[in-house]
Amino acid sequence: MSDRIYLVLLGAPGSGKGTQSQLLQEQLGIPQVSTGEIFRYNLKNETELGQLAKSYYDRGELVPDEVTIRMVEARLAEPDAARGAILDGFPRNLIQARALDGITEPHGGIALVPLIQLEDDVVSMRITGRRLCRDCDRVYHVTFNPPRGENCDSCGGVLYQREDDKPETVQNRLYVYYKQTSPLIGYYFAHGLLVEVDGEKSIEAMQEQLVALLVARNIGLKGSAVSA
Ligand code: AMP
Repeated sequence: MSDRIYLVLLGAPGSGKGTQSQLLQEQLGIPQVSTGEIFRYNLKNETELGQLAKSYYDRGELVPDEVTIRMVEARLAEPDAARGAILDGFPRNLIQARALDGITEPHGGIALVPLIQLEDDVVSMRITGRRLCRDCDRVYHVTFNPPRGENCDSCGGVLYQREDDKPETVQNRLYVYYKQTSPLIGYYFAHGLLVEVDGEKSIEAMQEQLVALLVARNIGLKGSAVSA
């Protein structure tokens, strides 16, 4: 029985998964679960998990599966995820994908896997121009999605560039994506869950395309504007 909605957003780092899933959570009424964001929170607060993740994170490598999977399992068991979640940055390899199948299957499995497609050179430009809010993690881009002022539009927090968004680390993150994460494209295609989204579109156009894909499959949107 399907009593929850689980979406997995796939795509290279910088393809817009974070921005799109932040927008989608309002439409769907389920939270975005970003593993990168959880790691950043733990790094900032110097928790045990943060200390464990730090060396991998700083090099753009994947944090070990057992740690990441346990962390996601705990996050998906929290009350705000009782109707499902939008997964951003997880799974990132086949072991994680199989673990996610195990977690979601009792609730009807994964509803859809939108893959955001983007050329590598555009990806690099997107990543190096990205800025984040220190307080609420909202994502901006200096050219394509700038804040109105110097600080975060949502909460007034200070914006910063992620250490791993600097050019030295970006190449390695792309390498890790192609080697470890891109096999998931075939995996989800074979499960009939993959849909492609054009990552070159504007943020608004991409969101519209995503919403249309969900509506076409009757995947629960709240609010009359999209569910009509
Ligand atoms: P992101 O914000 O999704 O680009 O993630 C930033 C970093 O967090 C990655 O480069 C990894 O070091 C770590 N990370 C995020 N998600 C995962 C995951 N699913 N598995 C392992 N490491 C991850």
